[in-house]
Amino acid sequence: MEDIHQFLAHAVELEREAARRYEELAESMQAESNSEVEKFFRRMAKFSRKHLALAMERGGFRQLPVLSAEDYVWPDGVSPEQFDWIGVDAMIDVNNALDLALDGERRGHAFYADIASTTSDPEVRSMAEEFASEEAEHVAELEKWIAHYAVQTEKPRSDPKQKHPATE
Ligand code: ZN
Repeated sequence: MEDIHQFLAHAVELEREAARRYEELAESMQAESNSEVEKFFRRMAKFSRKHLALAMERGGFRQLPVLSAEDYVWPDGVSPEQFDWIGVDAMIDVNNALDLALDGERRGHAFYADIASTTSDPEVRSMAEEFASEEAEHVAELEKWIAHYAVQTEKPRSDPKQKHPATE
């Protein structure tokens, strides 16, 4: 990708999908009465909206840019952030919700990182690097939440190999 406007149009689309996904995930967590993760998702939705606003501003877009279908060059023809989101049940548990969010962040990161490493346009490269590094932070944050909930959900499970200290 060699054109900054084309890049920013993709970024706008990607962040818009990310924000929408987080808002839907937040709704699911609200339905699950998990206000902690709901708040986290709402915060992530806000980050995506900020990213979206930044891309709009840098692109000088006053309205959402409209590219014709052939101008979009998504892998598999679908916006990377949207890819796994199609047809997902609204009633999902926290682990599935976090996995979905992580998947989206990883795709977003891969998309930006790929552009950063393949473009020969310095402006596109520096913007793509900036966006990629923020996506990498999001990936790391999601991984922390997933680890946190993995521990919580594993606690009640009894593992025959692990003796409970009280029974010894
Ligand atoms: Zn992100």
